[in-house]
Amino acid sequence: MNLYNTLTRKIEKFIPNNPEAVKMYTCGPTVYHYAHIGNLRSYIMEDVLEKALNYIGYNVIRCMNITDVGHLTSDSDSGEDKMLKGAKREHKTVIEIADMYTKAFFNDCEKLNIKKPQHIVKATDCIDIYINIIKTLLEKNYAYISNGNVYFDVTKLKDYYTLTNHKEDEMVVGVREGVEEDLGKKNQSDFVLWFTKSKFDAQELKWESPWGLGYPGWHIECSGISISVLGEYLDIHCGGVDNIFPHHTNEIAQSEGYLGHKWCNYWFHIEHLNDETGKMSKSKGDFLTLSLLEEKGYKPIHYRFFCLQSHYRKQLLFSYDILDSSVNAYNKLKSKIKSIKENKNGDIDFEIVKKFKEQFIKTLENDLNTSLALTTLYDVIKSDINNATKLYLIEDFDKVLSLDLLKDDNINIDSELLKYINEKIEMRRQAKENKDYELSDKIRDELLEHGVVIKDTREGTIYEIK
Ligand code: AMP
Ligand code: ZN
Repeated sequence: MNLYNTLTRKIEKFIPNNPEAVKMYTCGPTVYHYAHIGNLRSYIMEDVLEKALNYIGYNVIRCMNITDVGHLTSDSDSGEDKMLKGAKREHKTVIEIADMYTKAFFNDCEKLNIKKPQHIVKATDCIDIYINIIKTLLEKNYAYISNGNVYFDVTKLKDYYTLTNHKEDEMVVGVREGVEEDLGKKNQSDFVLWFTKSKFDAQELKWESPWGLGYPGWHIECSGISISVLGEYLDIHCGGVDNIFPHHTNEIAQSEGYLGHKWCNYWFHIEHLNDETGKMSKSKGDFLTLSLLEEKGYKPIHYRFFCLQSHYRKQLLFSYDILDSSVNAYNKLKSKIKSIKENKNGDIDFEIVKKFKEQFIKTLENDLNTSLALTTLYDVIKSDINNATKLYLIEDFDKVLSLDLLKDDNINIDSELLKYINEKIEMRRQAKENKDYELSDKIRDELLEHGVVIKDTREGTIYEIK
């Protein structure tokens, strides 16, 4: 497997410490609101990564946290706590909010065929672990107490900015717009490990600690949970690109300060899903959820397909038009598979299986190139091999893609109609290319008579069946 490693800023061969037990950590959701479809893009691609590693032959042990405490609004660790904000908004307790949105998150994951990681750990269940790490960091002089809070001193590390490769001035959080400077810090980039003094007195969840009643900083939970569940050596750590700084940068600082050695070898980051107004963000309030897509008639699997069509390291633009083209492509794919299922013939040819599997693996090993993996699936479908072999391969590839390719209930469009529509669309495209607009209009009207409305978009012609 070759993967882009944010730490080294290049594509590298993935060599785990122990192939029998690849240790993978994923930053989990902050459960103060529904996940937006941008968050879900990250979880879909992490799911594909885990399944691809499995497919290639690795055994993966994966852990994910649930941030149910202490994720602050701003990067300076001095903004408003997101959990508290959610609780206030909905007139519930922080625990009620966390339970409700954790359930909603896993409900979304199930609909998207995202496998639950083996270990799912709530941040509030590990307070003792964070306290122990912080104690050690204080003993080792990586941390200091100021104004009642415990801070990590970033100057104590050789290279605090190793993950970002940025100049300190560009990255310091204290100078960002709308962020108040914390006067308790020795250096602008120092971050809080444990709060006992917060501007926000109404904190609901507080725990006893050697430094007084308080609560952990934002970053310590991932270091604590990862080290306690997966041990001192982590193979791969995942998250969206927004987590590179400060969250993952601070995770490395704390973990390596505490452990005294390198902690994680590979950092896998997923680029953002943006809508036409820019980056999707939960804190913006108004955002796209999976339920909203369902209300509009889309199936969660359409969204998974939409995500798999692009590379995880490219920004992905969301629009309903683009999603509509994915729906068409997905339905077309399902209808082709349906007809293969209905005309099963021949015996499985394992020589051919081997050849296509190798091609499929190559696409995955190529920095998880899911769009090429889909191309391999199309190659199988349009090849002249027998249908028994095709079905075997489709089922096999779906172990990674998880697109319900062989499931019947996902398609309710008559395959004959689908064939007819696609032929007509192609005829119309050719007519337009030949500037025969009379014919192209005629085809459009003919389709309309069959209840098919077509629309030309930048990505090609799409249709809707009324
Ligand atoms: P959060 O619940 O805010 O902690 O985020 C959960 C995951 O979603 C993290 O891995 C984030 O980096 C990721 N994420 C946040 N916004 C986006 C986005 N617009 N597109 C893709 N991933 C995102
Ligand atoms: Zn994290």
